[in-house]
Amino acid sequence: MPKKKETEKKAGELLKEKLVYKKKSVFEKCPDEEKAAFDYCEGYKKFLDNGKTERDASAYSIELAKKKGFKEYKLGAKVKAGDKFYYNNRGKSVYFFIIGSENIENGIAITAAHIDSPRLDLKANPVYEAGGMAFMKTHYYGGIKKYQWTAIPLALHGTVTLADGKTVDVIIGEDENDPLFYVNDILPHLAKDQYAKHVGDAIDGEQLNLLSGSKPFDTETSEAIKLNLLRLLNEKYGMTEVDFQSAELCAVPAMKARDVGLDRALIGAYGHDDKVCAYPEITAILSLENPKKTVMSILADKEETGSDGNTGMKTSAFCDIIADICASMKKNERIVRANSTCLSADVSAAYDPNFAGAYEINNSAIINAGIALCKYTGARGKSSTNDASGEYVGRIRKIFDDAGVVWQTAELGKVDQGGGGTVAKYISEKNIDTVDVGVPVISMHAPYEVVSKFDVYNMHKAVVAFYTAE
Ligand code: MN
Ligand code: MN
Repeated sequence: MPKKKETEKKAGELLKEKLVYKKKSVFEKCPDEEKAAFDYCEGYKKFLDNGKTERDASAYSIELAKKKGFKEYKLGAKVKAGDKFYYNNRGKSVYFFIIGSENIENGIAITAAHIDSPRLDLKANPVYEAGGMAFMKTHYYGGIKKYQWTAIPLALHGTVTLADGKTVDVIIGEDENDPLFYVNDILPHLAKDQYAKHVGDAIDGEQLNLLSGSKPFDTETSEAIKLNLLRLLNEKYGMTEVDFQSAELCAVPAMKARDVGLDRALIGAYGHDDKVCAYPEITAILSLENPKKTVMSILADKEETGSDGNTGMKTSAFCDIIADICASMKKNERIVRANSTCLSADVSAAYDPNFAGAYEINNSAIINAGIALCKYTGARGKSSTNDASGEYVGRIRKIFDDAGVVWQTAELGKVDQGGGGTVAKYISEKNIDTVDVGVPVISMHAPYEVVSKFDVYNMHKAVVAFYTAE
C-alpha cells in the first residue's frame, strides 16, 4: 500500500510540474551567476553615482559609448551597416543605435528607458531669507512623497546660462568635502498640527525649501545672508540672482549607491527608476559588434512628468531619426516601424510584505525572481496603457527563455489601488509592438530606492537576448 501511494504521489507531482506554473527565484534558476551579477553591478553603481540627473546620465553614457567607437549622429547623415551612432538630444536624452547587416525593413529592435528621476527643481526666483537663514525655493519634479525629502542630505546638479549666453555646469554636494543642502522638518515635540494631517499633506510643496546658508555678508546690509549666498555663487560660477531664471538646477539626494543587506545582494541608491533599465540598455548595445538586426537604445527624459517636451518620448525626434536612417538607406520608414519591436524598459514595483495590502501577490514582482514583464500598466480599467498582444508577449517570452533570462510577470499592485504608466504607449502608437519589461524596485520614487543585483543583471541579459534574437 505505501508503495502505491508513493507512485500516485509521484504521478501527481509530475503532472504538477508539467502543468502548473511556479515562479522560481534567480537562486533556483541561475545558481552560478552571483559573481557575474555582483561584478556587473559595480559598473551600475558607478553609473548611478555619475548619472543622477538626465544631463549627468546622458553625458556619462555618451562617454562610455565613445570608448566603444560610437560616433555622433546628426539628422540627415549617411549610414551603412555596422555603423554605431549616438544622437544627443539637447544633452538630456540620447539615442544609441547600430545599423544591422540585414535589411532594416525587417524592423529595428528598440529598447527605451528613461534617465530622469523625481527630484526638487529650483524655481526661477528661488533665493530668500527668513529666520536668520537663506533658502532656495523648489518645485518638485515627478511623483514624490514630499515628507520623504525632508531632513536628508541633498546635492545640487544642473546648469546656469549667464547673461552673456555662456552656460556653466553646477554640481555641489557630491564631493565628500562639499557643503550640502537640506529641507527642514518640524521636530516631533511640536508636530501636533502636522500629525493631524493626512500623510500626503504632512509637508506641502511650498515647504520644500532648501536650507542654503546662515551667515550674513555683514551686519549693516539688509538681507545680508541672502547676499552672502549670492556672493559665494558669483565667485564660483560668475552668476547673479537673475541668472537663476535661465538655470536648470535640481536638488537630488546626495547619497551614493551602496550595498544593502549583509549578503550584499541588494543596492540602495537614488534614481534606480529608471537608471536600472538605462544602464543595461547601454551595456547591452555596447557589447554588440556587427549585429544582424538594427538595434536602438533610447534614454528618454521627462518620463516622470508625462513624457512631454522635445526630450520626452513624445518628441518627433524618435521618428525623425528612424525616418532619416531609412532615407539614407533608401528604405520605407513605415515598413521599418511596422516590423520593429520594442521593450519599454522601465521599473516595476517589487512586492513588499510590509505593505502587503497594496499588492495581489500572484501578479506582483518578487525581488530576486528576475525582471518583471508587464503586459499592461495604466490605472482602473486599464486606462492609459499599451496592452501588449499575447502574441508579442509570447515572442518575448521565448526570447527570454531561450537565453536563460530569469523573468516574471507583474502588475503594478492591486486592481484599483493606484496605477502608473511608462513610455510604452508613446512607442506602440507609432505602430511598433511594445511591452514593458524592467527591474522590480522597493520604495520606488523614494529618495533612496532598493533593487536586487541579480535582477539588474538579468535585465542586461534580457536586452542582449532581445537585440540578438533571430
Ligand atoms: Mn520609470
Ligand atoms: Mn517613475
